[in-house]
Amino acid sequence: MTCANCASRMTKAVAPFHVDRKGYHLSLDAVPAWVCSQCGEPYFEEREVRMIQRLLSQMDKQTAGRAPVG
Ligand SMILES: [Zn+2]
Repeated sequence: MTCANCASRMTKAVAPFHVDRKGYHLSLDAVPAWVCSQCGEPYFEEREVRMIQRLLSQMDKQTAGRAPVG
């Protein structure tokens, strides 16, 4: 596994993941990922991407249809 950014070697570690969506902000501190030893660029594997997408769709369902606050 090499970094898409700088082509350095990536090692298995954890990386934070943050996303701003309409109505909420999702923040994960330690998602399993490949992290570049040179520039710190994280690469999430398909399993983790699917886990994040599942979380997002659950959050979307919970926030959908609610009247905007304010
Ligand atoms: Zn890199």
